[in-house]
Amino acid sequence: MFTISRVHGNFVLFKGDIMGTEKVINLIDEKSRDRFSKYAVIDDMDPDACWGWTAAKCAKGYARFFYKNTSQNAHRISWMISFGEIPKGYVVCRTCGNLTCTNPRHLELVSYYDRAQKTKKKMGEKRREREEGVFM
Ligand SMILES: [Zn+2]
Repeated sequence: MFTISRVHGNFVLFKGDIMGTEKVINLIDEKSRDRFSKYAVIDDMDPDACWGWTAAKCAKGYARFFYKNTSQNAHRISWMISFGEIPKGYVVCRTCGNLTCTNPRHLELVSYYDRAQKTKKKMGEKRREREEGVFM
């Protein structure tokens, strides 16, 4: 059974506090969630550690997950399992820079505009901005 307890931390929230609720999100069907949990290598001792990925990766090294008859970015699926729908105009980005990581604690919603700005910056700068609350 795949469960992620409520995640707090570096996420940008929209339209109400998604993570502040106890609501179970069933956007992704249970069978797919179970399959996902078999592929993700989760460190039970350290919830802030990156998750490994044992299933397919694309040529660039990104974790992929077969869902709805197509190969999709695994971190997007991870987001949807944890938090539900990805709002229009936003992408799910990894804050850790690890291409195969699907730890929802390492994922954040970024608008298309912000992503365009962010791609100009290096990972270290991104991390500092987040800690300073620029995206809150
Ligand atoms: Zn990570």
